[in-house]
Amino acid sequence: MAASEDSLRRALVEKQSTIESQGNAVRALKASNAEKKAVDEAIEKLNALKLEKSSIEKQLQASVSGNPGSSVSKEAFRQAVVNTLVGRLFFIPSFKIYGGVAGLYDYGPPGCAVKSNVLAFWRQHFVLEENMLEVDCPCVTPEVVLKASGHVDKFTDLMVKDEKTGTCYRADHLLKDFCNEKIQKDLSITAEKAAELKHVLAVLDDLSAEELGTKIKEYGITAPDTRNPLSDPYPFNLMFQTSIGPSGLSPGYMRPETAQGIFVNFKDLYYYNGNKLPFAAAQIGQAFRNEISPRQGLLRVREFTLAEIEHFVDPDDKSHPKYSEVADLEFLMFPREQQISGQSAKKTCLGEAVSKGIVNNETLGYFIGRVYLFLTRLGIDKDRLRFRQHLANEMAHYAADCWDAEIESSYGWIECVGIADRSAYDLRAHMDKSGVPLVAHEKFSEPKEVEKLVIVPVKKELGLSFKGNQKKVVEALEAMNEKEALDMKSSLETKGEVEFHVCTLGENVTIKKSMVSISKEKKKEHQRTFTPSVIEPSFGIGRIIYCLYEHSFYLRSSKAGDEQLNVFRFPSLVAPIKCTVFPLVQNQQYEDVAKIISKSLTAAGISHKIDITGTSIGKRYARTDELGVPFAITVDSTSSVTIRERDSKDQIRVNVEEAATVMKSVTDGNTTWADAWANFPHHSSVSAEE
Ligand code: AMP
Repeated sequence: MAASEDSLRRALVEKQSTIESQGNAVRALKASNAEKKAVDEAIEKLNALKLEKSSIEKQLQASVSGNPGSSVSKEAFRQAVVNTLVGRLFFIPSFKIYGGVAGLYDYGPPGCAVKSNVLAFWRQHFVLEENMLEVDCPCVTPEVVLKASGHVDKFTDLMVKDEKTGTCYRADHLLKDFCNEKIQKDLSITAEKAAELKHVLAVLDDLSAEELGTKIKEYGITAPDTRNPLSDPYPFNLMFQTSIGPSGLSPGYMRPETAQGIFVNFKDLYYYNGNKLPFAAAQIGQAFRNEISPRQGLLRVREFTLAEIEHFVDPDDKSHPKYSEVADLEFLMFPREQQISGQSAKKTCLGEAVSKGIVNNETLGYFIGRVYLFLTRLGIDKDRLRFRQHLANEMAHYAADCWDAEIESSYGWIECVGIADRSAYDLRAHMDKSGVPLVAHEKFSEPKEVEKLVIVPVKKELGLSFKGNQKKVVEALEAMNEKEALDMKSSLETKGEVEFHVCTLGENVTIKKSMVSISKEKKKEHQRTFTPSVIEPSFGIGRIIYCLYEHSFYLRSSKAGDEQLNVFRFPSLVAPIKCTVFPLVQNQQYEDVAKIISKSLTAAGISHKIDITGTSIGKRYARTDELGVPFAITVDSTSSVTIRERDSKDQIRVNVEEAATVMKSVTDGNTTWADAWANFPHHSSVSAEE
């Protein structure tokens, strides 16, 4: 793909220079008063060259955007979706009457219902299925917890300021936008320049503040709103800071993720689980990130719902008992190597990816498979869902492997779920800070004889030499791994002393033979103690829901063909309301029947809405299609009613007494609409779709 883009750029440069020469030739002919025929021929050739150039430009445009002319229609599509969502109160900009606040949104009634359905299904698909231990921890978190996790020091984005107005921007976003825009819209740049910009995009996450600043200056990037110069980039911590209690002495933050609440409870949860591994804990809750300049509507917000799972597992055994249930699934996977070599995501068998080691282990593979099933059952289009592996530069140093479930929307591919094997990092970090052992044990059936390394610093000797630094030297000696300790032992035996680097002092010290004893001793052990690894699927619920809105939305012509009607094709599982009940015309008898049916729908636990307005039935259908309501019951007699399915607009006729049972069965998914269509008389009504 890259090669063809390259060759098109080169062809374009060549064609431009041929056009210029031909233009010169035409001018020369005209200046020399050449024969009309010769001038006409030269002009014809020039026009042919221009046509060829425009064809290359079109091909290049298609190659860089992946879809010629797509950006305009994508924006129009997004606008239609957002207008419907806002118009029907799926969401509302928060504090709208005061002008709103960027990055904060309310869920209105249908939005709340969709969210609650998505979360109910999440609990069923993950928590119930795996017997997970659900917890619910506070959003306000003391500083020490987020210091231990690394958020206080490292949860930052690099920011630049408009030097005149003070408006803030994310530095990497400005550079990214500049590179993408140049690559996609400036067809005159050379293949070399395009390659350079692509390289910048590839290493964007790795750039330091200085490097980002240099690039911003080099490319002459200015503030997008004013074109004013920008400041140098500097880190901005994304957490909302607060203090706990009135004294102001106890700093805290609004949590940027829910995971830490689970880690700090590990010891109790492990005990609750009978001291057995593996087990998973789960939490659904609000997370807060003070995003620098939130764009992309509902996709990048400052407060959002996360649903997170922390699956604790023995680092020596990452198999999963139910792995075989997902191993045969096939879907789009985008491993690191394919990204680096410029290929696109390919349909891959999950089991093969795990057995070839592309996915690090079975448990990670199991969760990737379960996330695929979760998202597609919600209604995410499987052809616009891919699992992308993190590149080495995206992954934290401690992580064993990470994959993002990315969903394609009008904004491009969006990370909606992160699935990471974070090794033992988080538990170790909290163990170090709190001093509480966050470990698991494996009891041996018979005691095992093991050779153990024993390091005994001789504190008296060390104290004499290192005085106030003695504690740090002792800690460093005790923290040596087996190889370091045995190397030191042999050096001490041969040379009597050795140079030793103490990180916490930032210098080398001389250790003498009398200062430490290092030996290997045989011991009987009854159990093994270790820090569990954690595999973490982390779901951005708002992002999933927004992508679901886009994947479910379509337009269809009204019966008269004079109007485009909005429809959300939500599956019953997520539809905000499962069915509507309409008396066909305003009449007391029909209204009474509608009320009887409504009562039985309530008893069956089916969310529904009665619409007894005199509006035409076609308009009432259109109104509910726009909310994604899958079924409509229309009362057109006192003994039987029709049930209409939203997407096919097909209708069946059922007895009044059966209506709620049929609805229950099709909305619970116990039967399909096709079953209902096969089992009940069909109804056709001309008036139904006005
Ligand atoms: P992270 O901890 O950064 O991997 O984020 C976990 C998940 O939260 C991501 O996969 C996203 O779905 C979601 N997420 C992260 N940041 C935001 C945001 N600003 N707005 C909405 N969702 C977000």
